[in-house]
Amino acid sequence: MTSIDTTSRPEPRAPGRPRPYVGRPVVMATQHGKAEVVRDLFAAVGLHVIPVAVDTDRFGTFTPEVPRPAGAQAAAEAKARAGAAAGGLPLALASEGSFTPDPDTGLVVQHELLAFLDTESGLTLTGRATGHAPWARSWTVDPDATAALDRVLAQVDLTRTRLVARPDPAAATAPDAAGGAGITKGLGSPESLRDAVRHAARWSSRVVVETDLRADRAPERHPVIRRAAVDLIHRLHTPCPACGRLGFGPDEHTGHAPCSGCGTPTARPTHVVRRCPHCSHEVLDAAAPATAGPGDCPACNP
Ligand SMILES: [Zn+2]
Ligand SMILES: [Zn+2]
Repeated sequence: MTSIDTTSRPEPRAPGRPRPYVGRPVVMATQHGKAEVVRDLFAAVGLHVIPVAVDTDRFGTFTPEVPRPAGAQAAAEAKARAGAAAGGLPLALASEGSFTPDPDTGLVVQHELLAFLDTESGLTLTGRATGHAPWARSWTVDPDATAALDRVLAQVDLTRTRLVARPDPAAATAPDAAGGAGITKGLGSPESLRDAVRHAARWSSRVVVETDLRADRAPERHPVIRRAAVDLIHRLHTPCPACGRLGFGPDEHTGHAPCSGCGTPTARPTHVVRRCPHCSHEVLDAAAPATAGPGDCPACNP
């Protein structure tokens, strides 16, 4: 993964920056507590986040019963539009998370985006952040093997994490195993997990047990959601040098910074590409620092 977040804290009073939305309410369509995760960041730049109850699960779920056919960006924008309509206000936020395996390491990568919609001007902006999510786990268990479930329980802290049990579509014994039947979410005790695994086993001969990824059940998601909010807040205050519209910001990292110890190229980028989401104007800036530490070096720290 080469996308490294370099955003810092919001700078609400930096001189010369536009502050177009100071004092405005902005609705956030959510049913999983995400407004509380980002409220203070927006308050620092004068935006008042107001949660509105929208059935956001109809735009897609982490578990397979509601797929996101149009992708995370479209789902977030659709949620924001639904929030603006439900709240009766022109400004809306909505967030969307997704989890993918890192092709290089096999580790799970968490992607968060936060969409901002101004229905009066038509402006749509998106803040993004990514991070490794070693806490997002998945196991396939034999429902009759209690030892397998005990091994899962030994690896999770149910005081922090909630689990989901669902039929494994690859081992289906009933026709609707992939369609949302037999799923139990929010499992927080060994007893409820065992019951849920037995329940899911009515649809498949193996059962998937995985981390409940909904934001109110997965506090580990919050730091990356907050970094996406900081990225969005920067864009809301940064006009494009070419067209003047808001939203200019870091879009891509390129290059391989050399190790400060031995000079070997590392996964750390040398440059950041800032782009305008409206006119595609881009600026290439050197990333700081110019070298990577030996800890990031494949030769010094294999
Ligand atoms: Zn532009
Ligand atoms: Zn090195």
